[in-house]
Amino acid sequence: MKRLSFSVYLIVLLSVFLGAASSWPESGFPAPLALVARCLVLFASLALFFLVLPKLIGQAMQIFVAMLLGIFAGWALAMMGQQALVAEYLGIFGALFIDLLKMVIVPLVFVSLVCGVAGIGDVRKLGPLGAKTLLYFCCTTAIAVLIGLVCVNLIQPGSGREDIKPAQAVVQDAGSGEAVGEEQKPSLGVRIQEDVLPQFIYNPVIADQPILAVIFFAILLGAALAANAERTEVALHFFKSMDHAMITIVKWIMMLAPIGVFALMAKAVATMGIDYLLALGKYCMTVVLGLFLHFCVLSFLVLPLLGRVSPLRFLRGMSPALQLAFSTSSSSATLPVTIDCASRRVGAGRSIASFVLPLGATINMDGTALYQAVASLFIAQVYGLGLTFQQQLLVFLTAVIVSVGAAGIPGASVGLMAVVLKTAGIPIEGIGIVIGVDRMLDMCRTFVNVTGDSVGTVVVARSEGAIEEPAA
Ligand code: ASP
Repeated sequence: MKRLSFSVYLIVLLSVFLGAASSWPESGFPAPLALVARCLVLFASLALFFLVLPKLIGQAMQIFVAMLLGIFAGWALAMMGQQALVAEYLGIFGALFIDLLKMVIVPLVFVSLVCGVAGIGDVRKLGPLGAKTLLYFCCTTAIAVLIGLVCVNLIQPGSGREDIKPAQAVVQDAGSGEAVGEEQKPSLGVRIQEDVLPQFIYNPVIADQPILAVIFFAILLGAALAANAERTEVALHFFKSMDHAMITIVKWIMMLAPIGVFALMAKAVATMGIDYLLALGKYCMTVVLGLFLHFCVLSFLVLPLLGRVSPLRFLRGMSPALQLAFSTSSSSATLPVTIDCASRRVGAGRSIASFVLPLGATINMDGTALYQAVASLFIAQVYGLGLTFQQQLLVFLTAVIVSVGAAGIPGASVGLMAVVLKTAGIPIEGIGIVIGVDRMLDMCRTFVNVTGDSVGTVVVARSEGAIEEPAA
């Protein structure tokens, strides 16, 4: 009872504070009706996700409900002209959730890789295991790009669409969908998201290190610990304890997942703009179709054939991670949950999952590679450039390479697309055409990125005889 009343006070206080901040004009007083309505929207959202839903359904279901409600709320509030409330104030909960997840990425990758490699035990096994993992990554990424190329060549979403060629490309902010240009004083909500939260939600131990360097060192350290098992017992024990501690932190952060996902979805829908989506409908459908086909290849062919695990068991087990990937657009932020789902819920050996998944989240991005191929060819079609076989081959190769270098964060593909376009001789300004719908497609490609990593974990675990009946 005591805890409940404390949460209620906190929620009321937060709703009133943010509601008032969002409705206060530069000068004068807010309109009372707007103020009350905004406070109520915030209160209803917080109360639903902290007080009501946790009593009724489990966490995975809460995240799913949050996704649907987020889409609806984003659409409804945008219709009422409340984009700012959604993006700047409700958006704080999405930013908080993502910042917290980002905070644990590097230490988690480090600790889980050290434990994963050390857990393999015999250092001589590491080479074959690494080779198998890389082979899987290369093959599936190549298949993804091929599927993308076939779809975009057959559907030709950009042919005859010179109308959307940017005369002077309107560069939009992928996150907000608003035209960049005029200097505007950021609101309190934006400042909280961009300045305040990152001030204290930031990992102080090993943050901002190049992730590939972290991976390389972690693999070496894990191997060295395994090679001297008798003398390094204490260190191994330390890393295992740290691994548990990291997982505990992730579990705490996940308590914010429903409200975070709700806010992220609402913000994405409210700021994207339906008209823009319709203009690029055929292109979006081509990307989504390609991603869907690749998802089917992974889940219904590769998984049962090579992993010998039923798609149903896999999808049921991985659903929290896949939903999170979709709503956060970040395979790195999803990583902690992906490891937990693959090992505990699907049954892939923990040390294999701790080895394959951190690597996969960094270098294996099937969805991203497919997306790069479709987007580049679409832009070429809009510009009326028929790409030769050699040019398409170049797109194929650069899309694969770029996907290895892409970070597992929202919008990572956008900057890298310039590389693919430049290599194939397609005008770089064309990025302006597709950037506005990037956020939505990012959700879909991240979903496929995480599926690819997880199927890979099952396949590698099966080849090592490390698949068990799931614990839950
Ligand atoms: N958001 C994607 C991911 O995290 C990367 C990308 O932008 O394609 O997997």
